[in-house]
Amino acid sequence: MAKVFIIAEHRDGRLKKSTFELIGAASAAGNETHAVLLGEGVAGLANELAHYGAQHVHVIENPGLKFYSTEAYTKAVTEVLKANNPEIVLASHTPTGRDFMPRVAARLGVGLASDCTQLKFEGSNLNVRRPVYAGKAMVEVEFLGSGPRLATVRPNALGAPKADTSKTAAVKNVTVELGSLKTKVLEIVKGSSARPDVTEASVVVSGGRSLKSADGFKMLEELADVLGAAVGASRAAVDAGFRPHGDQVGQTGKVVSPSLYIACGISGAIQHLAGMRTSKVIVAINTDPEAPIFQVADYGIVGDLFAVVPALKEELKKVKEH
Ligand SMILES: Cc1cc2nc3c(=O)[nH]c(=O)nc-3n(C[C@H](O)[C@H](O)[C@H](O)COP(=O)(O)OP(=O)(O)OC[C@H]3O[C@@H](n4cnc5c(N)ncnc54)[C@H](O)[C@@H]3O)c2cc1C
Repeated sequence: MAKVFIIAEHRDGRLKKSTFELIGAASAAGNETHAVLLGEGVAGLANELAHYGAQHVHVIENPGLKFYSTEAYTKAVTEVLKANNPEIVLASHTPTGRDFMPRVAARLGVGLASDCTQLKFEGSNLNVRRPVYAGKAMVEVEFLGSGPRLATVRPNALGAPKADTSKTAAVKNVTVELGSLKTKVLEIVKGSSARPDVTEASVVVSGGRSLKSADGFKMLEELADVLGAAVGASRAAVDAGFRPHGDQVGQTGKVVSPSLYIACGISGAIQHLAGMRTSKVIVAINTDPEAPIFQVADYGIVGDLFAVVPALKEELKKVKEH
């Protein structure tokens, strides 16, 4: 059993599912599971962390943590870890987790395993599995030496447990001294899309260059609406201006691991596969039966997406209506 600290992530007053996955994994393995909740006006979220298995919640309320900032998070997280000496520290491999965790590791003088897709708790130790070479191979990582073992975990890789509302946690309010910060986030201006982010959605419908225009993606949006999905894109589609960069899946875009990934007119270049090959079920629609995407697909449709996607949407609508 280890003392495991999980840095909770939240946005717009809601905790992220990826945080529940980490708490669920740590607590299912019989660890002493702690969550760290940072922000301003966030204390009300502590109970929900308990429902997923956190036995202790450390709440750090500070106006300097109202919006995520690298500097403030690094300072606050480092301070709480130094004060509690956990054996294992986990955060989600999201843009936020990827940003502050390496800095925290450097401040503590310990190693960090990033983008893990499997965790194995062994006593007070942690072994992890993570993809390398753009997902072509996996490595097992063992931590050596002393000090906490730090890891970031790919969202959707572990699966979240069911909430148990009867569970409670010991909640502790913690004060941290942020000191004088060099930068301050004044405002967060949201993008126009109301869709879930590709990294968080459990279904992603992605399109490639073959969609031909930004308008072409409307067809994918309609399919995504039926499935409650996010819309992703290949780099070729993004470079052509059909979609914003935030939607790009792949080596130089976002890494996704949804339950279902539908690739429409995407060739399956290695750099695209790097961002989606750990999806649980992959469906590919492509006119070219030799397209590399079919090598990773669980289900393949050889056909013209302009005919297949609308037909798929209509069939899925019927299934939903019944
Ligand atoms: C350093 C580097 C980083 C990169 N990072 C990324 C990244 O993060 N993400 C990424 O995606 N790419 C990335 N790339 C680019 C990558 O190599 C490919 O060029 C890109 O993924 C191709 O996009 P695509 O599949 O949309 O286009 P194409 O390669 O042009 O493929 C289009 C596919 O659509 C099919 N098709 C055409 N018409 C239809 C139709 N009507 N119906 C059905 N199928 C049809 C074709 O058969 C073809 O397979 C990177 C490249 C480099 C060098």
